[in-house]
Formats: sequence, C-alpha cells, structure tokens
Amino acid sequence: MASGKVFIGVDIGGTKIAVNGIDEQRKAIAPQWLEMPSHSDKGPNATVGQIVAAVQAFMQREGITADRIAAVGLDSPGPADINGRIEKSANMHPDWEGFELRDNAERELSRALGHEVRVSYENDCNAAALWESHIGNPEGTEVMALLAPGTGLGGGIVVHGRLLRGSRGMGAELGHLEIVHPPFIEGWEPKCGCGQTYCAEAYASMAALGKILRIALPQEKYRNHPLNQITGATEEETWKKRAYAVRGLAAQGDELCQAIFDWQSRAIARLCRQVADTIDPDRIVIGGGFIEGGKALTDRIMGIIQEEFRRLAFKKHAAELKFEVARSGDQAGCLGAALSAWQFANRVG
Ligand SMILES: [Zn+2]
Repeated sequence: MASGKVFIGVDIGGTKIAVNGIDEQRKAIAPQWLEMPSHSDKGPNATVGQIVAAVQAFMQREGITADRIAAVGLDSPGPADINGRIEKSANMHPDWEGFELRDNAERELSRALGHEVRVSYENDCNAAALWESHIGNPEGTEVMALLAPGTGLGGGIVVHGRLLRGSRGMGAELGHLEIVHPPFIEGWEPKCGCGQTYCAEAYASMAALGKILRIALPQEKYRNHPLNQITGATEEETWKKRAYAVRGLAAQGDELCQAIFDWQSRAIARLCRQVADTIDPDRIVIGGGFIEGGKALTDRIMGIIQEEFRRLAFKKHAAELKFEVARSGDQAGCLGAALSAWQFANRVG
C-alpha cells in the first residue's frame, strides 16, 4: 500500500460530485472517479455534507488514511469568485447566494479528517484546463488554451503551468468574447445567456443549438426530419431532447445536423483566432460535449476548425499552432482541482 501524501480533487456539478486524487508525483490515484449526488438543489449545506461523504468514500475505496490527505481542491461551474464564494444565479437554491463554498468545505473536511486540511477552489473549466495542460505538457513550458463547447462554452488559459485566473477569478471567460459569424439561418439572433449578443457561446453551445432548431425545424422542407418526430412532456423538454439528439444524427451523416455542427465549428475557429491573437498559444485544446460524438464526427469538427483557423489567422499561427482534442474528458475537472490543491500546497499556483 502506498504511503505518500494525496491531493484530492472534488468536481461539483448541478447533480453530481466526482472525486479522484493525485499523488505527490502528480499522477492520478484511480483510473475511475467516485461519483455521488451533489444535492445542490437542497442548498449549500447539503452539498458540503456530500463533499465530505464523497471524500471519505473515495478514501475508503482507495485505502487512503486521513493523515495522508495533504490538501483538497474543489471545482464547480461559476459564477463564483476566486475564493469560492458563490454568486447569485438563476435556477439555484436561494441559500447558495454569497455562500463561502471553499471556507465551509475546509472547515467540515478538517473536522471530518481530524486535522487541518487546506482547500482550494477553481471554476470547472479552469480546473479542466490545468489538468489538460499538465498531461500534454507536464514540464509546464507551454502557453495553452482550453475551449469546451458543451451546455455553454467554457474556457481556460494556462501559461507555463499556471492558470490565468485574473484578479477576481474571472479570467479566461473565453465563451463571452464576441465573434463576427454569419447566422446559420435567417431570423436567428446570437443572444447569449449573459445578456449580450454575439458572444461565441451564443453560436457554439447546446443553448445555441436549441434556438437554431426552433427556427429551422418548422420549415416545410424539414417536416419529415427525424428531429421533428422527437417529443417531450413539455414544450421545453421537447426542444431540449431535440437539441441533445443533434450530435448523434450529425455523427450518422444527417445533412441538417452536420451543417449545424460545421457552422458551429467555424464559429469556434473564429474564437480561436481571437484567442491566438490575445495569448499567442502553443496549443489550443478542444473539449466539451461537442467533440464527444465519436471519432468520425470529432475528426470532421477538428478538421473544419483548423482549416477555417488557418484561413483567418496570421501566417505564423496558421503554420505553428497545434490543435488537439482534450484527453481526459470529464475526469479533467476533479483531477485539475486536485492539481490546483497540489500547486497551492507546493506554492507553485
Ligand atoms: Zn455571453
């Protein structure tokens, strides 16, 4: 049995908590994370209780004693500040507003583990970017950006092994950079959830897909389209299910769904151009649900992003910038949170 120090990472989502950890050499403890419900709809204290329970269950599963836990890293979707203080957000239990997630988790984990445990906090895309940079460039010499189109369009920037968090933890919100991209369909407007128009997220995200489908599918030519056969219990559920079905249909070669994905890929290329001009990266890594539709679809998406980027970018960027698919999928969140805890403990973050 190993005996060195362990750094635990806890990825907190709307419905689930995922836990894994790394050792002192920054290697993942387990090939598979441990998962538990997050109970975030029951308020923050319920979630903190679940964090403690999940960490203890992980320790038991992996045979890790409490004295070996050197630090714990948390990550969650925003909005939160750099200290893990949660800001007001729609659809959240009201007690979350202003809740000091990091402080409360630190207190409860220290109590449960019987010694003082330092807890760090990152937003989920930053944690994922930190881990993706580490596994692609463990020596920490690169400038790298992660773009993760999924429900929204998250981003993260790592410079020489360190996250670009900014002064308030609001750095690298790359999904809210504006891009100029012709609409997929007439009558559609790229309105973003943040209240602005033309954010990259308003083009390349699940939310954008839903809005495009609402204009495209009622057209006569799509009357018999398979997406129109999908229905849910409510109007909202129907469109949500249809949006979720687009990726599978695009992977099967459906013309409309593939055209939407191609167009979203070109939007991402425009965002990459802005990122390249701002931070001059060695690598842009693409993650998120958008590229999880099987190898053929991912190859197609990555091909279009790179081709369009080369058309738009400065020559040197077009020739030298590397594009890669994220390697660790959903594990990047908890492992990145663990790496953040390792960095804080070793004072390199
Ligand atoms: Zn926005």
